[in-house]
Amino acid sequence: MLKGRKAIITGSTSGIGLGIARALAAEGAAIMLNGFGDAGEIETLRRGLAGEFGVEVFYNGADLSKAEACEALVADAQARLGGVDILVNNAGIQHVAPVESFPVERWDAVIAINLSSAFHTIRSALPGMKQRGFGRLINIASTHGLVASANKAAYVAAKHGLIGLTKVVALETAETGITCNAICPGWVLTPLVQQQIDTRAAAEGITVAAAERALLIEKQPSARFTTVEQLGALAVFLCGPGAANMTGTALPADGGWTAQ
Ligand code: NAD
Repeated sequence: MLKGRKAIITGSTSGIGLGIARALAAEGAAIMLNGFGDAGEIETLRRGLAGEFGVEVFYNGADLSKAEACEALVADAQARLGGVDILVNNAGIQHVAPVESFPVERWDAVIAINLSSAFHTIRSALPGMKQRGFGRLINIASTHGLVASANKAAYVAAKHGLIGLTKVVALETAETGITCNAICPGWVLTPLVQQQIDTRAAAEGITVAAAERALLIEKQPSARFTTVEQLGALAVFLCGPGAANMTGTALPADGGWTAQ
């Protein structure tokens, strides 16, 4: 379905970003990977994706906490892929602490990576998309873009902001062939969440399995994790013809979390 399309997925060396990169590659899109990790492992990943799906796959290790690096990532993708049709803003970090003791440096980092990077990549990619008359902008927000949890001030502020940005961009591009939507996952078992499970197990003196179960049932009525494959399928749908008139939405994939 996406043969000939060219896609950037930020934070795609792990977790949800990697799941979405795989799903887009499986549909024939050429891919620009981004994110941190061991150079050898990333090269194996890059080659593996290219070989498995027969598409071009590049990698750019831009640190998206910096505006110039976001601009350079888009410019590099435009040069090496020959344009950018799909931009998935997925890179993100978490920090958990009460607001009065939230480290200022962590606040700045979460806002920069989870929110400002999407502003910088979108503003860099839009002129090319407008010229081509096609674009799919997908921002990976969170249930925390729709509702709050204690101790996640920066993350919740960033994700609410990301949904706001999604709506503004949708309005500004409404007549251009470009759509801009947000996906709002509930709990997905990735390194970002595993860290929170491990911290909880240690803090409460319970097993990792018990901490995992407690984390799920507290918020997510299905008591099941959303999978990266499910999120990949949703991203593919948003890139396809069925979603051509969907824009400015924030789509929960959260096992009923935000239905409560
Ligand atoms: P993850 O930790 O597995 O992956 C995060 C990716 O972002 C990695 O590739 C990492 O290298 C990259 N990254 C981090 N800082 C970066 C930087 N400065 N520059 C470039 N890349 C950077 O996490 P994940 O769970 O897959 O999360 C991906 C996105 O999904 C995040 O935006 C997160 O907020 C969101 N999300 C996750 C969950 C969940 O339950 N896991 C739920 C809702 C939303």
